[in-house]
Amino acid sequence: MMRDKALVVFSGGQDSTTCLFWAKERYSQVEAVTFDYGQRHSLEIDCAKEIAKELNVKHHILDMSLLNQLAPNALTRADMEVTDGNDGELPSTFVPGRNLLFLSFAGVLASQIGAKHIVTGVCETDFSGYPDCRDIFIKSLNVTLNLSMDDSFVVETPLMWLNKAQTWELADKLGALEFIREKTLTCYNGVIADGCGECPACKLRQKGLDEYLSFTKES
Ligand SMILES: [Zn+2]
Repeated sequence: MMRDKALVVFSGGQDSTTCLFWAKERYSQVEAVTFDYGQRHSLEIDCAKEIAKELNVKHHILDMSLLNQLAPNALTRADMEVTDGNDGELPSTFVPGRNLLFLSFAGVLASQIGAKHIVTGVCETDFSGYPDCRDIFIKSLNVTLNLSMDDSFVVETPLMWLNKAQTWELADKLGALEFIREKTLTCYNGVIADGCGECPACKLRQKGLDEYLSFTKES
């Protein structure tokens, strides 16, 4: 296992692309893994491919379409509406255990490619109700991965305690703000860059960007 090699869980969105830049600055070898689970927009996969290619990162795409058998949801079924998850309810995009599955597969792949570090953009600050994005879960999974493969992976979560404005700030520090703003896809309606402006993901992303940009103007 190589100390200076990292595998980034990568969707082509703002957060995981920021993680990709973060990892590239830190580790001499970086590869990325994207999970294809029949996203409503296959554009998301294309977008991830494009970014990986441009950043010269080896890109693994794993077929996770079995997820649809387990939990049909708003991201994969065109007839379901994406909701915010107000009133303490989980958002309609919720797939129980999705991150558990993704990170477990990432762990197996990391083992195969000899990467010590597994980087994921999960975040507890804008807590969306996904229990398997919490810091305590990630720490627990890290232990489980190590025990399961008798290895010493380090699961890295550079965005865990950042809000969206701070994530933009990190992107800026990494010299990647424009790249991330123009090339990533966060929008539930499949609109690249600044997005449709209407869906919950776009609103969150734009609010963070506005906050960060107004802060940098003031200072
Ligand atoms: Zn949108």
